[in-house]
Amino acid sequence: MSTIERFEEPVYVIRPFLPPLEEFCEGLKEIWDNHWLTNNGPVVQRFGRELSNYFETDNICLFTNGTLALQIGLQGMGISGEVITTPFTFVATTHALFWNKIRPVFVDIEPDFYTLDPEKVEAAITPWTTAILAVHVFGHACKVNILADIARRHNLKLIYDAAHAFGVRIGSRSIAHFGDMSMFSFHATKLYHSLEGGMLAFQDSGLKSVFDYLKNFGFASEVEVVMPGTNAKMNETQALMGSMVLGYVDKLIERRQRVTEIYRERLDGVPGIKLPPALPAEVRYNYAYMPIEVDEKQFGMSRNRLHEELKTYNIYTRRYFYPLVCDYSCYRSVSVKDPLTVARKVASRILTLPIYYDLPLDDVRRICDIIIALGSKEHDRQGSKLVAEA
Ligand SMILES: *Cc1c(COP(=O)(O)O)cnc(C)c1O
Repeated sequence: MSTIERFEEPVYVIRPFLPPLEEFCEGLKEIWDNHWLTNNGPVVQRFGRELSNYFETDNICLFTNGTLALQIGLQGMGISGEVITTPFTFVATTHALFWNKIRPVFVDIEPDFYTLDPEKVEAAITPWTTAILAVHVFGHACKVNILADIARRHNLKLIYDAAHAFGVRIGSRSIAHFGDMSMFSFHATKLYHSLEGGMLAFQDSGLKSVFDYLKNFGFASEVEVVMPGTNAKMNETQALMGSMVLGYVDKLIERRQRVTEIYRERLDGVPGIKLPPALPAEVRYNYAYMPIEVDEKQFGMSRNRLHEELKTYNIYTRRYFYPLVCDYSCYRSVSVKDPLTVARKVASRILTLPIYYDLPLDDVRRICDIIIALGSKEHDRQGSKLVAEA
């Protein structure tokens, strides 16, 4: 143990990618020349076309962040009553429902990829249910075909929080093509970013104008306000960053794949460390996160202790997603019928490890070695304690 040194500089769970500064400054010159900073300027328009190409659909709408995109998406689609969703997500998924006065109905996740368990979804449908809001958590694709079948049979809308799923493909199609609507987040901490930003992709092209109104105060013309909208527009600087990072995103994904492979090789078979299984062959993954589960008994220490101990080595992991959304004080009054057996277990064990494009591969190996050493040190300590007691 003594041979593994702590990191001199802190290693965080994420480090945003930045394009070369000169490249960004060139782009800023264009914005300065245009003297047009927001309100659907030329850079936002161009960025929209680039994303249309990338996602292979014209049915997209850009926003200043993912939370407002989802909130407006739900409003524009007229979702109301109850929506079946997951508690194992970032809190914004549920907030978007709340801001639309929709009741969240939390159901359990499945144990491999932590996405909504379709079997539990079907059991939670009531006469008030209008939609399913599932999350491609960590970029793991939900069981899209089974969910689509449930939605169709019960006449429900199927909406995805795809905040983690930029670049994920299922078969020959972008994940944006599944369900009635998907929200992507371009927040700085995500795999792909535009400083901050968000996007909706949707099937019904008629929704485009509704979303455009809602994100711009409801203005249909200078003298006409057709609905009580809000302000959720993307600005030119965001679009510039988004456009530049888009040019690098394939490289970013490739690089993270390398990092993931090293984590998986090194941590595979370590007692008490569980890695997600391989994704179905038809899914092209984006390596957005590196989640592991820690089994306290087998590993020798709890997830919480590992999280703390790693800090002493200057490694900052995150307990995503703990607590479950339904356990935050602001949602504790929501009645939850599902026992959430899997979600509770996973929330108590999950830890996401550092992953970003320029994380040196040797650092990844060192992080693994530290995790392994911490576990075996604890085993030794408990072993000698047992010997001493005997
Ligand atoms: C980041 C995130 C959001 C919110 O996106 P913002 O762009 O930060 O507003 C919503 N849902 C999930 C699952 C997220 O991770």
